[in-house]
Amino acid sequence: MKKLLLFFIGILFISCASSKKANINEDAIKNKYVDEINVIDLKDHVYLLANDVLEGRKTGEKGQKLSANYLAGYYQNLGIDPPEGHDNYFQEIPKSFFNKKSNASSENVVAFIPGSEFPEEVIVISAHYDHLGKKGKEVYNGADDNASGTSAVLEIAQAFQKAKKSGYGPKRSILFMHLTGEEEGLFGSKYYTSHPIYPLANTIVNLNIDMVGRVDKKHKNKPNYIYLIGADKLSSELHKLSEETNKKYSQLKLDYTYNDEKDPNRFYYRSDHYNFAKNNIPIIFYFNGVHDDYHQLTDTPDKINFEILAKRTQLVFYTAWEIANREKRLVVDKK
Ligand SMILES: [Zn+2]
Repeated sequence: MKKLLLFFIGILFISCASSKKANINEDAIKNKYVDEINVIDLKDHVYLLANDVLEGRKTGEKGQKLSANYLAGYYQNLGIDPPEGHDNYFQEIPKSFFNKKSNASSENVVAFIPGSEFPEEVIVISAHYDHLGKKGKEVYNGADDNASGTSAVLEIAQAFQKAKKSGYGPKRSILFMHLTGEEEGLFGSKYYTSHPIYPLANTIVNLNIDMVGRVDKKHKNKPNYIYLIGADKLSSELHKLSEETNKKYSQLKLDYTYNDEKDPNRFYYRSDHYNFAKNNIPIIFYFNGVHDDYHQLTDTPDKINFEILAKRTQLVFYTAWEIANREKRLVVDKK
């Protein structure tokens, strides 16, 4: 009897200690894994993806296929699996889907970390990895557009996987998505949202990253900024959570200029997140704004500000962490 009592006291003690640990350490945990997102790794990825060898990553061409293999190999090395029931990381899109804008079939690259408590609820973190190809022998490297966002997704995945390996995996599932055919007309996201791997009804948010490695003219002397677009359009909770997360961890200046419905650039409608928003899925689009090298041969890796790229990537990680681990699923309360 005494032994039994001691046993129960022991159990009680252990369970108190572990729930206490979960509360106290959440910030410490976040801060520990966010260090996985750093300048050195981001530099490696951007310089590789924007290398001439990849010939501008044009949809359906050799360089895009090589890039897809690089991304898939990276997830395999990290031990992040393809989506359940899939034996590889490629979502193949037939040539016919591209309305003659690709010479061959092409592929989205997808990797999946299942959630520990609400596995059916899925967060999509996306970036397109295709670009404009070549002009004669000259290569459009697309370092900012969008080797920067592609690298950000890779680093965020690594941080979540490291956390998972130490027992702090996300409560909700995360789908890491590298989209093709964006430059030709958002084809990768159009295909995914019409052929979703996980039901769109349970896809709770899309965090989309397209061009996050540069500083535009407006912020020349204050590079700690990011343009956010779309956060308040479908979910007031998402906007609030995004603001609070930034205030607490990243302290970037969140610039909402392009979020204004009256802004003539209409960026909300111009990258892959829009295909998710159309399906009533709340989105945030992370963007550094335009610059003179946009869609030019001069969008090269040496012009990337890797410190700010790391900070912006960390903000997306913190935001995804909050959405993945909060008690309740994000509410869609706007039309
Ligand atoms: Zn882009």
